[in-house]
Amino acid sequence: MRAGPSQEEIRRHNLGALLRSVHVSGAVSRAELTASLGLNRSTIGALTAELAAAGLVTEETPRDRGRAGRPSLVVRPESYQVYVLAFAIEADRLTAARVGLGGLILDRRETSRPPGEASPAEVVAPLAEFARQMARATPRHARLIGSAVATNPVVRGRNGLLRPGASGGGADTSRAPFASALTQALADALARTGSPGGAGRPPALVSRGCADLAALAEYTRGAATGRASVIYLHGDGGVDGSVITGGRQLTGQDGTGGQIGHMVVNPAGQPCGCGSRGCWETEIGEYALLSAAGRPANSGRTGVAAVINAASHGDTRAQAALHQVGEWLGFGVANLVTIFNPEMVLFGGTLRDVYLASTAQVGRRLTRAGSPERRSGLRLRTATLGEDGVLLGAAELAFERLLSDPLTDPAI
Ligand SMILES: [Zn+2]
Repeated sequence: MRAGPSQEEIRRHNLGALLRSVHVSGAVSRAELTASLGLNRSTIGALTAELAAAGLVTEETPRDRGRAGRPSLVVRPESYQVYVLAFAIEADRLTAARVGLGGLILDRRETSRPPGEASPAEVVAPLAEFARQMARATPRHARLIGSAVATNPVVRGRNGLLRPGASGGGADTSRAPFASALTQALADALARTGSPGGAGRPPALVSRGCADLAALAEYTRGAATGRASVIYLHGDGGVDGSVITGGRQLTGQDGTGGQIGHMVVNPAGQPCGCGSRGCWETEIGEYALLSAAGRPANSGRTGVAAVINAASHGDTRAQAALHQVGEWLGFGVANLVTIFNPEMVLFGGTLRDVYLASTAQVGRRLTRAGSPERRSGLRLRTATLGEDGVLLGAAELAFERLLSDPLTDPAI
């Protein structure tokens, strides 16, 4: 029989919980930490002192001294001292950011990429150059503690979308050729610029799908904060999704679960990049909307915005295209609600604006679907982290090792 956790294990767990709380809240008083973590004041004081000594948090006296008595010290993350590098390979752009502890974007780079398939070199070279530029602009004393890349995770396909690897939703794509090439390119870029600071070598790049990471960001500090049961739908060329149940992301047996965009909804429909036919993605993805509206099928997020704008100005073809996509969106959402009974369905990426343009339609489809009791308490919402949701999710993934055990991290 295993004994209970040791004092040391409890201490390390509490250090992680405290640092995570400060990372998510940005600035939090010792009194609030005492209440939220269920620890006494002296323990919070000792843990905070350890994290401060490690350069992870600072403490300061709050400016507002309106209330009587000694004010509770405010604990803040060392956002300018401790950072990760986050990268995203999306259908029509490449982005990179240096993100400080606390989720603060300190530096951000972006370039568009032509639609269509890309070789590893075509995505790796621009991202490595971004890493070099950001490293040069980083203060010498700042410490890099992790890096992560979000990838549009679908398989190589026929409809002109980026297909960087055959791994799906929650899969770790670190074995994909582009991920290992990017890992090497980052190491070279950072070594050449003399960055990072800190004691250890930069930790290995970790990688997951864009939808899973955008969902993680919304769950951590966006629209889904505090919700244990969420379905996140992400438009980025095609359609991907992430299912959170009981506070955990559904991954399936090998990490490829939750590929909502590839459930077949129309067996007589169009061929899909995954090799199947009539997937939900072929009815509600950017390609479907743009084709129905008579626009260039590879015009990406700009094209989607143009269709929605045209529809709002009375363009009947754009309106018909949006109506068609809205019907399929409603059918799929109704099915997902029936299966998962979530607290929230969240629309992100280009599906955010598509949903906003077809909210009433989706609502009607939901109402017509059975089991009204399954919809009680259900909220349909749009992602609140906007264009940077995927990058912020990649940053969360890169911070995870530090947050789960702060003082044993080799970079600290
Ligand atoms: Zn498919």
